[in-house]
Amino acid sequence: MKACKNCRLISDGPTCPGCNGTELTEKFSGQLKVTDPEKSEIAVKLGIKMPGTYAIKIRER
Ligand SMILES: [Zn+2]
Repeated sequence: MKACKNCRLISDGPTCPGCNGTELTEKFSGQLKVTDPEKSEIAVKLGIKMPGTYAIKIRER
């Protein structure tokens, strides 16, 4: 599984289903499952707008 460097959405690639970005990395830590972004305080804080599993931290940068 890889995390998108742009929006942090975790997918199995090669492109991010969230933002269609191609900059995915395996170097991430923590996973956050968001089912209802508008009701999740953390999701709002991270700027997450669609449901999915997100990386909490991208380690590569
Ligand atoms: Zn993305």
